Amino acid sequence: MHQVIGRFAPSPTGPLHVGSLVAAVASYCQAKAQGGQWLLRIEDVDQSRCHPAFASSMIETLATYGFVWDGEIVYQSQRQADYQSALDRLITTQQAYPCSCSRKEIADSSQRIGIEGAIYPGTCLHKTPNMSTPLAWRVRTPNHVIAIEDALQGKLCHHLANDIGDFVLKRADGLFTYQLAVVVDDARQQVTQVVRGADLLNSTTRQVYLQQALGYASPQYAHIPLVTNSLGQKLSKQTLAQALPLDNIVATLQASLACLQRTPPVPSQIKRPDHLLQWAIEHWQSYF
Ligand code: GLU
Repeated sequence: MHQVIGRFAPSPTGPLHVGSLVAAVASYCQAKAQGGQWLLRIEDVDQSRCHPAFASSMIETLATYGFVWDGEIVYQSQRQADYQSALDRLITTQQAYPCSCSRKEIADSSQRIGIEGAIYPGTCLHKTPNMSTPLAWRVRTPNHVIAIEDALQGKLCHHLANDIGDFVLKRADGLFTYQLAVVVDDARQQVTQVVRGADLLNSTTRQVYLQQALGYASPQYAHIPLVTNSLGQKLSKQTLAQALPLDNIVATLQASLACLQRTPPVPSQIKRPDHLLQWAIEHWQSYF
């Protein structure tokens, strides 16, 4: 059997909050309960939204909460060359094409709405793009259904051409997008199990398609229910989620385990976060 490799991949757009802690705990316990590795990857590919100070505070907070990651921390901001070579492969095999359309042109010309808004009508697929404007690169989405089996959410099927449309891999400003970066990194780091928040469930069929197009193996997926605030909104910087407290750490970890419902109630004599995580690993009920 292959070694299990899990990962936690936060974007440093704000401090870690309870929602991110729940994803960290779930991916950590899942990997460690199977004797696997748990990697930490800082997803700072979009430098306009990320800040190095948040990355350092996330790393410190994870260490304070008792997490121990395997190997070096990977930063997406330093991985451009690999993303470009993956894109080049898709260009060579005519699975990616340049696009000079502006947002407004797309909004004006799109005739269909997919699960994430207006579907790109494929304008630049059928004509030579305007080379005098900066070009984005899009993947040609297939005309068939991509189906995945999620350990928690069940079966998910998307017809990418109809439900999403040809999505962007590299933006006109030169930034690689999350979808391409995450696929290249999960493959490069040989991740076998992805445990993350359910807000990313709809991205998974795109990622599985890119894995297929690039000849990568697909990991197993478990999308955990999102932690929401009292208004039912996902915790995030936009919804003003509070940073994780640096006191009451054991109680906060205990609450995140309770949220996940994969362990029995935590015994009260546990006083250290690393001991609590170790106890959780020993009592963890696997997703896969
Ligand atoms: N960087 C993403 C986030 O913080 C997570 C990506 C992933 O786990 O695939 O929401």
